[in-house]
Amino acid sequence: MSAKLLDGKKTSAKYMESFKSLIENLRAKYKKVPSLTVILVGENPASLIYVKNKQKRCAEIGIKSDVIRLSKDVSQKELLKIISKLNKDKKVNGILVQLPLPSHIDESSVINAISPEKDVDGFNVVNKGKLAVGDFTGLIPCTPFGILKMLKLYKIKTEGKNVVILGRSNIVGKPMAELMLQNNATVTVCHSRTKNLKAITKNADIIISAMGVKAGMIKASYVKEGCVVVDVAMIRNFETNKLAGDVDFKSVSKVASYITPVPGGVGPMTIAMLINNTIKAFLTQNNIENEDTQVQI
Ligand code: NAP
Repeated sequence: MSAKLLDGKKTSAKYMESFKSLIENLRAKYKKVPSLTVILVGENPASLIYVKNKQKRCAEIGIKSDVIRLSKDVSQKELLKIISKLNKDKKVNGILVQLPLPSHIDESSVINAISPEKDVDGFNVVNKGKLAVGDFTGLIPCTPFGILKMLKLYKIKTEGKNVVILGRSNIVGKPMAELMLQNNATVTVCHSRTKNLKAITKNADIIISAMGVKAGMIKASYVKEGCVVVDVAMIRNFETNKLAGDVDFKSVSKVASYITPVPGGVGPMTIAMLINNTIKAFLTQNNIENEDTQVQI
């Protein structure tokens, strides 16, 4: 079998087009557009790239975006003060604190300080709690949301399927599992203490891999013929500046039915859902209803 590509660049471009026209309509009708403020602490090279990409995409579709850059030595107190100010600022619809944060800062205190209505990453406990109980009025974490949207666009069914998720992080693995359960999949979540990983992945109809530990770790021998393989990981080689995923694309694409490339798979859909969430935050905060069905799950 030769796998078909799950082309995140293509699917995200469809979203971007519709977001662009929605934003033009909002500008014409309400004389304002959604705005996103990103807080970047320190100089983590991967974070610098991600923030630059987010800003670029926002600019392309007409979302106002600002970046607040802080020294790696900024205190947690100072960071929380900035978030509190942004929470109160009516001109700011979305707030994103780029992770990871330096080790002297407690990530969960920072994330939970963001007002749930402005938490466009969907990492705040309020938004995560809503997702866990199937309440879609909150903001859904962008990466799992983007993966679900991509599967739907390719008409890949999840109902009754064995979905194996590799990784149990709060930002990818766990919310992905919740979305898959709500879409009637039978879900197995694996982590670093899982035994006999290969025996579990071999039984999967869909594998969603988000480990980020060793490039190309998931070989064809881990994958059942016809499986759908989604590779979330982004493992950057700073010498070559190339990105790789968890999945050995060359061997796995011979047995899978669909596969995401890295880069160009999950990454662009993550940014599309960040924009989706920023628009949703703007609409909610301005009590604007039914502007576009794209902002519904
Ligand atoms: P994380 O917090 O480090 O979580 C990694 C998970 O992988 C953990 O749950 C860990 O288990 C599990 N794991 C590690 N080794 C394993 C093994 N041998 N077998 C099975 N599970 C194993 O990472 P994350 O934030 O979820 O991100 C994961 C990857 O996705 C990274 O490469 C990141 O850069 C990428 N990412 C990409 C996007 C995108 O838009 N494309 C977005 C977010 C993240 P334990 O819990 O037991 O430690």
